[in-house]
Amino acid sequence: MSALFGAAHNHGSGMTSQRARDRLVARLREDGIKDARVLDVIRTTPRHVFIDEALASRAYEDVALPIGLGQTISQPWVVARMTELLIEHGIPKCVLEIGTGSGYQAAVLAALVDQVYTVERIEELLRAARRRFRNLKLENIRTRHDDGNIGWPSEAPFDAIVLTAAGESVPRKLLDQLAPQGVLVAPLGSPGKQKLTRIRRESDEWLSDELEEVSFVPLLGGLS
Ligand code: SAH
Repeated sequence: MSALFGAAHNHGSGMTSQRARDRLVARLREDGIKDARVLDVIRTTPRHVFIDEALASRAYEDVALPIGLGQTISQPWVVARMTELLIEHGIPKCVLEIGTGSGYQAAVLAALVDQVYTVERIEELLRAARRRFRNLKLENIRTRHDDGNIGWPSEAPFDAIVLTAAGESVPRKLLDQLAPQGVLVAPLGSPGKQKLTRIRRESDEWLSDELEEVSFVPLLGGLS
């Protein structure tokens, strides 16, 4: 995995260096992230590439940062936690992400699973994310400009689904596109009261449990 983002990104200095990523990983571990596979990917994924140069010096702080158009790149702890939940019962083959944003979460997933499908409603963000995937030679991410509320019907079912924007509940179409024994992770609830929620599908039953409190931008409808 380390080879994936090899030399080209090892020359960063100061806060975009490997040292900064190592410090971030140490902090995530202190804050309860246990899965070594996830920590390894965070250690090798250049988060500074996913944000504006003006903010790059803050890339390895454990905070969400603005990416323009009112959206944010998720906090590393949240990305790590959601990824941990998605792979805890085995590595899924294909994962659907709703809310590509910067593309960071998709890049983290792409290092772990065979195929990532990611849907974003804001075209301008999607275009920038695609450019990053290309530059990083991430060839197992497929992107789509669409309203994620309808999922990606032609590629369903998915072994895992992750929503990186918060709604009151999970859209029915996404529940239906989850494979049997699949896992879906989503922030649910109203602003200020969102909980990370894990849903497991057992044939035609969806079992849900609420985990940590989180703060995400809202899941909206339509295209932009
Ligand atoms: N996973 C992203 C987080 C981006 S923030 C990252 O790692 O950077 C959430 C993103 O969800 C925003 O880009 C927002 O435009 C997008 N979004 C919100 N509602 C959506 C919808 N219905 N369909 C697709 N994307 C949506």
